[in-house]
Amino acid sequence: MSTFLHRLDSLVTSPAAQHIATAWRGMTNLLIPNPCALCIWSDAEIHQLCRVCLGLLKEQTRQIIQAQDFADALPLDLVTGQPLPVFAASFYTPEMAKLALNFKDHQRIKLARAFRPIMYRTLQHAAAHLGSSHYRLVPIPASGASMRKRGYNPVTTMLPRRLPGALAYDAGLLKTRWQIFAQTSHHGTGVQARRAASQKKFRLAHRHVPPAEPVILIDDVLTTGATLGAATKLLQSAGFDVAAAVVLSAVMPRS
Ligand SMILES: [Zn+2]
Repeated sequence: MSTFLHRLDSLVTSPAAQHIATAWRGMTNLLIPNPCALCIWSDAEIHQLCRVCLGLLKEQTRQIIQAQDFADALPLDLVTGQPLPVFAASFYTPEMAKLALNFKDHQRIKLARAFRPIMYRTLQHAAAHLGSSHYRLVPIPASGASMRKRGYNPVTTMLPRRLPGALAYDAGLLKTRWQIFAQTSHHGTGVQARRAASQKKFRLAHRHVPPAEPVILIDDVLTTGATLGAATKLLQSAGFDVAAAVVLSAVMPRS
């Protein structure tokens, strides 16, 4: 299963996949001025989806999923042995995969308008479920290379501006390391090697005194959990209490 997930991980972020998406949209643009980011046959509204596809997105994000059991590289709680809780707004369905890929292309940045209410609801659900009143929300940062290429971080872009209850962002806390974690280390390696590679992904912005409130990490897609694992370990080593993670979608293991 993990090989499949690693392949999927590199596939959805591959330049080839993005070029195909761009070329395909180029063709359909001749017929429909503003094609829906999902079905591409209908005209899209402000959030870049047609009415039918927005309805489909709502349907697929109706039930918030506890996704920690599907990811084998999540950190385990030292006391309980349980993996870090991950709340996902949806499974990584073919539709969510297409939207996530499109969203990483600048021309589809307005999909954020469709994602923000979904993330709001998922964060609200996670906070209520975890039971503390205050949480510090820490988004997974984009690497320097992808920031230069896109000009934005898809994870922070899909977050709601206003937050439910006593949640607050700490978007600057995690930084990526400037030496970009080598893509080659993801090829043909097991979970161990990948875990080792991803531990070098992040650094803390500065020496923080860990605050009283626990952290909720935020990412777009959960595959193996290696990224959330690396972020959790770094934060824990600096004294932070990492309570959970919230993601837009989680990859299902193939049965
Ligand atoms: Zn559509």
